[in-house]
Amino acid sequence: MTNITIHRPASEARWALHVGNWYLTPEDGQNWSICPTCGQVPRVWVFNHGSQAKCCCFDLYSSGIISESVMAVITRTGSAKEYSRDNLRIAWNDYIEHIVMKD
Ligand SMILES: [Zn+2]
Repeated sequence: MTNITIHRPASEARWALHVGNWYLTPEDGQNWSICPTCGQVPRVWVFNHGSQAKCCCFDLYSSGIISESVMAVITRTGSAKEYSRDNLRIAWNDYIEHIVMKD
């Protein structure tokens, strides 16, 4: 038997309580892990110095899962070698894989 997780998108009203409306649904949403607590793939915000992902478990004022921008990686390491546009998705999926389930 195969376990199929059905993704039921949250209402915009629910998203508005947890995530700023400047966060967008990722275009490759099928590649992002679904949060086992709220059942959502995250919305993401890409800005000058990095990017963040949040699901409905976060609140408006929390920073969510963060990934550096290419400029931040260059400033920190001296090259862009460590940078990937996919870093935020990888960080998100890693977070979901290691999330501590709440009772
Ligand atoms: Zn969640």
